[in-house]
This record gives sequence, C-alpha cells and structure tokens, in this order.
Amino acid sequence: MDNKPLTKLKSVAVVIPMYNEEIGIIENLTQITQMLRSYEKTLKVSFAFICVDDGSRDLTPSLVRDFCRHTYGCELISLTRNFGKEGAIEAGLVQANAADAIVVMDCDLQHPPELVESMVKLWQSGIDVVEAVKIDRGVETRSYKRMASLFYQLFGKLSGIDLKDRCDFKLLDAKVVRAYLNLNEKNRFFRGLIQWMGYPTAQIPFVVPERKGGGTRWSVFRLFRLSVTALTAFSSAPLQIVTVLGSSLSLSVLCLGFILWY
Ligand code: UDP
Ligand code: MG
Repeated sequence: MDNKPLTKLKSVAVVIPMYNEEIGIIENLTQITQMLRSYEKTLKVSFAFICVDDGSRDLTPSLVRDFCRHTYGCELISLTRNFGKEGAIEAGLVQANAADAIVVMDCDLQHPPELVESMVKLWQSGIDVVEAVKIDRGVETRSYKRMASLFYQLFGKLSGIDLKDRCDFKLLDAKVVRAYLNLNEKNRFFRGLIQWMGYPTAQIPFVVPERKGGGTRWSVFRLFRLSVTALTAFSSAPLQIVTVLGSSLSLSVLCLGFILWY
C-alpha cells in the first residue's frame, strides 16, 4: 500500500475578464483551459478558471455558462453592467480569495497561455509578482502605439512609475492580492497599483499575438477615460492644473466685471 502523505496541491486561480466576446470565446477558453490543465501534473498545482462577464450585451454569458457547466474547475461570475476591465479584474480577484496564486489574463489569446507555465515556476521559486512584458506590441496601429507611448511617458513623469510595455497579464501571490484588495482606492488602475506596491517581481518578455475573436473592446473615449483615471489616481498634477485653470478663469471674469462696472 502507498503510505505517502496526501499533500494538498497549491491552487492557482485564473481570472479572465470578458466583454461582448461571443465571437471566439469558446475556442479561446477551450485552448486556455486545456493548455493549463496539461501543466498541472508537472507543476503540481491545480488550476481554477474564473470567467468574469463584464455586463456583455451579446451571447457571451450564456455561452460561457454552458462551457463552465461542462468544464471542471470553471465558473462564471456575471456583473450587472459593464464596469470596465478594471472593475471586472477586481471582481475576479475577490472571487479568487481561496487560491494560493492568481493569474489575470485576457480572453482573446493576446496573453499567450503558454507563458503561465514559466510564471508558476517563478512563483514557486519565491517571487510574489510575475509580469508579462511586451517586447513587441503586435498589430496595433501606429497612432495607437504613439498614443500608448505618450500616455506611459506622461504617467512616468507624473507618478515616477515606469509602466512602459507592461500589461495586465500577471501572476500574483495570494498575499499581494489581499494587500491590493485592502487598498483604499476607489478608482483602481491594476497594473499601476501592483507596481506601486513594490513586491519582488520577475518579468517574462512576450510578443503580443493577433487578437482572436473580433477587434479591441476599447473605444478611443474609453481609453481616454482610463488614462485620466490612472493619471488622477497616481498624481495630483491634473487636479492642480484644473484648479489653476478654474481660478484663472474666475479671476478673469471678476476683472472683466470690474472693468465693465466702472
Ligand atoms: N474587457 C472587459 N471589459 C471591458 C473591456 C474589455 O472585461 O469593458 C476585457 C476583454 O473582453 C478582454 C480584455 O478585457 O478579455 C482586453 O480587452 P481588449 O482585448 O479589447 O483590449 P486590448 O487588447 O485592445 O488592450
Ligand atoms: Mg486584446
């Protein structure tokens, strides 16, 4: 008889936000879940999949609910409306509270699931945060790349945090997630806050593959709103600029009133 003690496998929860992804979501989830399951034996971990539907208005939630019914260790949480990716990530992290480590990844295969194997190995060697870093931004348009680079330069100058080529594809130890969720931030900027917290971090470079399943879910307006949220969360400079502009305008109006009065 085998008398080896039964050791509980460490659990790694994979948080996958999704919004209006009916084209391709099942193929993508099949690829992600099958690939990660194939690593379980050698890594000695068990993966759980937390799909977060961020208020999709297409068939995403019903397709994924059905997928999870047939896929071991897969669950769907549905948000009441579209909160944006940051909100969806936060909901997934809360749901993953029993896991020993959490991976956050996009559902469109632009975050290659094969990188998770190295991420888990680095975590097992004692590193708290493993982040995937883009060495090539893939098929993004030249204007999008320029806008992103401008944002990261501005963000770096105002906050002192270098986010160039970073993305939300990360593995976090459970203690990092607990600390993240305990922060008193209302408007969270995931990649910025994780870097700001300063836990020991390793990086894995990767080339961003083409998106599987339609185009990006971000409009220029939503990207602009996210940039403003990120900048105001990390620096008081934008608020100071608005205050100075507001005060100057009030002063000009007062002066004009004074001149017209006399
Ligand atoms: N996403 C989300 N809520 C949103 C917008 C996007 O959960 O409001 C998800 C989306 O389904 C995908 C990930 O966030 O899994 C990244 O979105 P996308 O691929 O459109 O962004 P990009 O790769 O262009 O930065
Ligand atoms: Mg994408």
